[in-house]
Amino acid sequence: MRLTVDLTALGRNWKKLAAMAEGAECAGVVKADAYGLGIDRVVPALSAAGCRTFFVALPEEGVRVREFAPDAAIYVLCGFLSDLVVHYSEAKLRPVLGFRDEVEAWAGSMPGAPSALHVDTGMNRLGVTLEEAEALSADPLIERAGVELVISHLACADEPEHPLTARQRARFSEMRELFPGKRLSLANSAGVHLGPHYHYDLVRPGIAVYGGASHPFAEMETVVTAEARVLQVRDVPAGEAVGYGAVQTVHRDSRIAVLGAGYADGYQRAASAVGPRNARVRIGNHIAPLLGRVSMDLMAIDVTDLPEEEVRPGVWAELFGPHVAVDSVAAAAGTIGYELLTGLSRRATRIYRDETSG
Ligand SMILES: *Cc1c(COP(=O)(O)O)cnc(C)c1O
Repeated sequence: MRLTVDLTALGRNWKKLAAMAEGAECAGVVKADAYGLGIDRVVPALSAAGCRTFFVALPEEGVRVREFAPDAAIYVLCGFLSDLVVHYSEAKLRPVLGFRDEVEAWAGSMPGAPSALHVDTGMNRLGVTLEEAEALSADPLIERAGVELVISHLACADEPEHPLTARQRARFSEMRELFPGKRLSLANSAGVHLGPHYHYDLVRPGIAVYGGASHPFAEMETVVTAEARVLQVRDVPAGEAVGYGAVQTVHRDSRIAVLGAGYADGYQRAASAVGPRNARVRIGNHIAPLLGRVSMDLMAIDVTDLPEEEVRPGVWAELFGPHVAVDSVAAAAGTIGYELLTGLSRRATRIYRDETSG
């Protein structure tokens, strides 16, 4: 599989989100190796676009970001892992603290060093409860722990009608009074699209920067294009089956193209042609459906109806990209674009395009 990452489009997407967020600062979420695209290339591109604040999940990821963003603020969403304190101190990482003992541990290890506080407003994952937030707000511990930013995370921002979204916002708004002078941050990508009431002081988009979740964010540009080469074209007579398990039988004399990509590249086996959610690829100017199971290194597509001269060994087919939304392939596999992107394997060759640096 060949992945082309358009860093210029990535920068433009970030700038669009920053413009949408108007008065608020726009951060960049680069956890999971920048959603599978490479911290080493994505962080410099976002920095060049103007991004000064990054969020990662793990301290090890923060250390990598620090290599490419010497002056940025880097927040670690999983919090303070005290056995890895050396990472936080050497790379100047800021933990996002989620319970009182953790706040105390940070204040004890790194007194006064900057941090953030995570308040849970209804997701019930990480973060202090509203009651704990209230207690902490009156506690000098907050200053000793260097808390400068108070965040929460939306559980259903991609379903704007979901009642929990407004409830979370209402709860989060109480933080203004509890923590006067602290910066507040609530919105992920979908939250940015919910409008100014959700932006507060800092927004934290991830997936939209990478051109994912294309439905709600139609204005974002495609960043990642995944392609596979046609290795062989063959005729399959009616009644024969294609691939492992012989799960799919062709009902007419067919021509198939075998592509050099499979689940070992991160193209999910669950997207295989079984049932109505069959994934598609684009080849030439045509869309062709998958046939049979996706195997480790190979997958087959039905090209019976395509002009023969457009489907030859060596031709590249788009697995997802500008014509086949990453989210549509993910949906065919019963998952979301986030999982497809972060699951792209190291085997996939990555090619970076950056017009701004030539
Ligand atoms: C991953 C994450 C984000 C970014 O979410 P997207 O949906 O990719 O925009 C923001 N905030 C937190 C706490 C996250 O875990």
